[in-house]
Amino acid sequence: MIKDKILKRLRVVPGKGVSLKNFGTGWAQNDELKDAGKEAVKERAGEILQANREALSEAQELLWASDSHSVLIVLQGMDTAGKDGTIRHVMSGVNPQGCRVYSFGVPTADELDHDYFWRYILKLPAKGEIGIFNRSYYEEVLVVRVHPELLDKQRLPPGKRGKKFWETRYRDINEFERHLAASGTLILKFFLHISKDEQKKRLLERLENEEKYWKFSLADLAERRYWDEYQDAYEKMLENTSTEHAPWYVIPADYKWAARALVADVITTRIQSLDLHYPAVTPQQMEEIRRAREILREEE
Ligand code: AMP
Ligand code: MG
Repeated sequence: MIKDKILKRLRVVPGKGVSLKNFGTGWAQNDELKDAGKEAVKERAGEILQANREALSEAQELLWASDSHSVLIVLQGMDTAGKDGTIRHVMSGVNPQGCRVYSFGVPTADELDHDYFWRYILKLPAKGEIGIFNRSYYEEVLVVRVHPELLDKQRLPPGKRGKKFWETRYRDINEFERHLAASGTLILKFFLHISKDEQKKRLLERLENEEKYWKFSLADLAERRYWDEYQDAYEKMLENTSTEHAPWYVIPADYKWAARALVADVITTRIQSLDLHYPAVTPQQMEEIRRAREILREEE
């Protein structure tokens, strides 16, 4: 497992200002890692991911059996940050029965006819389940904040759309999550943090590798021009919506193997800390089990 001090550094302290420049995007997050060297760290990351897959599979069974909590995992990041790949790698050992992934894109006309939480609420995980949001209600303070003209489509009551408006959105999100947490939902939020250079590299790969053509969208290039505006929107989001009950983790994501090991480790550690138990067997159930054994044996 990854050392606490590394995980702690990823967590955005509630109420504190955030400058993304202070969060690295690479693999060498501290001197100790730097001294170990990239190949050694990469190998260790692979081991950590594998160990976590196994631990996560067990943790999920317990989550399912105890039926008392839900887990909501939110993944945000710029285009090409590696959201899909992270889901695929981290969740690969998990029983599909208890895990669902939802991707949220441009809202449909029907979705725009409702309040902005509506489509996300419909997909919240039930008790015992892990729900993964590939993009989420946070787009409402990211893409929508960078392109405020999108608000017109939401047909909100009239009013100013300045700083106060966005602060109200952050507050609504915090309240929404507070309610979910109080109802037994463990909320884990990850921002996959990549550098602008790395995004360029990955976009070029999409253009040069036939198998990646399908992933390319001209819209990604258009959004790249708003890089600084997005970084700013992300900083404000992190500052305003990292709370004790639903903290943000900023994951250095220029190296996919590093990002995956870190995300896996946070998810496993946090589910394990729920201290779940298999349901206790009542004396009546014990008696039924004894009877059932007898009945089956008598058949022989
Ligand atoms: P992808 O994740 O590549 O499938 O792209 C989904 C696209 O949907 C991204 O360009 C997002 O910016 C966009 N999107 C997601 N949520 C919203 C939203 N609430 N309003 C407008 N656009 C959104
Ligand atoms: Mg895309």
